[in-house]
Amino acid sequence: MISNPFSSAFFAQCSTCAGLLNRSSALQCSQCRCVYYCSEACQRRHANQPDNPGLAHKAWCARLRLFRQRAPALAELPFGFASVTTADTFDSQCLSRFLLERGLLGRGMWRRECYAWLGVHPHPFDDDDNDADIGGVPLPGDLAPDPDPFALPDEAAVLVEAPSTVSATEPPPRISSWSDYYQMRGLPADSPVCVLMQWPLTLYHLLFERLPVDAPDAYKRLTATVGDNRPCQLRRIVVHLIGVEKEVELIPALCELAKLAPGFSFRLVLVGKEVSPSVHKSVHTELDGRFRVSVYRGLYHQVAAGLLNQKHQDGITDSGDEESSCPARPDLIVAFNAGFAASISWPATLEFLKKLAIRTYVTDYCEFSMELSAVMCDKLGIGTLTPQRINPFRSPIRVPNEQLDLPSYSNAFISELVYPA
Ligand SMILES: [Zn+2]
Ligand SMILES: [Zn+2]
Repeated sequence: MISNPFSSAFFAQCSTCAGLLNRSSALQCSQCRCVYYCSEACQRRHANQPDNPGLAHKAWCARLRLFRQRAPALAELPFGFASVTTADTFDSQCLSRFLLERGLLGRGMWRRECYAWLGVHPHPFDDDDNDADIGGVPLPGDLAPDPDPFALPDEAAVLVEAPSTVSATEPPPRISSWSDYYQMRGLPADSPVCVLMQWPLTLYHLLFERLPVDAPDAYKRLTATVGDNRPCQLRRIVVHLIGVEKEVELIPALCELAKLAPGFSFRLVLVGKEVSPSVHKSVHTELDGRFRVSVYRGLYHQVAAGLLNQKHQDGITDSGDEESSCPARPDLIVAFNAGFAASISWPATLEFLKKLAIRTYVTDYCEFSMELSAVMCDKLGIGTLTPQRINPFRSPIRVPNEQLDLPSYSNAFISELVYPA
């Protein structure tokens, strides 16, 4: 394989001027070891950030140092390959090799995992506010469905059914860690399927592990009819997912949520501005209608306002909504890998969420990004983010970051967005 000249193991970006640097010879902040500079002038400028004092490095350095110390805790995962995929030299080229060795590169639901296969390099030249400009990459939703979405024959055979240990008349089982999940599913510790399952398992964790602690009353209402031997009285759970991209192509994996909790029917509403127009308003139904996903292209506050308004005009009540393709008011809202500070559309969405006041969880790649989100919520008067916790169902694949040498993983941290009373 040709050595990748843009590999983040070799390259870094100056935190001030964004110039590309050779990582091994670049100036580095000796305190936090998270940021790089091309010159002492750039380092001095970054320390105070005259045009954006909130981002002055001297205000963040000590905290970044603490975040960096979290690397071993984040890398602690029960998978045979974890020492490889959590190494600080693991980059997009290593990921290609990892997938290739397992016969997964460019197959099924793995196609979005590796930009090399999609024919582009995502870093370091892409621009957060110009997401569409990654030439040649099909929009999320435009990859043709693959008849073998998992591309792992043993796993696919196991995952096609619900686990034999779960029942519609029992409360959902405690699944607190990847080890619990793998054991329950009888998966070997070297199975990479967790990379795909981070999404449904994070949702499962939020609904059945976090909610009972964070909102016991809401959880009781949500699970009221489960466990009283009336399996036909499925309790419906509606979850809105904000800012989705590749998740629209992961429906076979997302369906695991319903397989693990057979006492419920699930309505997921996936909204993302980068989603292909070809899947806008599409509805996918699995498990005899017990699991339904609707996809919308657009900004969440616009799409959700339309959905809720339409609901109101139609006079459809929540309980009579089973056959409607348009789900009702959500029980929970989740924003995966949100990064409020990284997108110009978040302030309007946050204002909308504050008015809606529905329980909202947020995940992020790294603590710094989540902290910036918290600062933004505070500034806009949206509310606060609860102290972030490490997500037991984070991805085991370390994401390279040229700008900030902090351990980053998809869905690594979880916070709840608490609106003002
Ligand atoms: Zn510089
Ligand atoms: Zn520093």
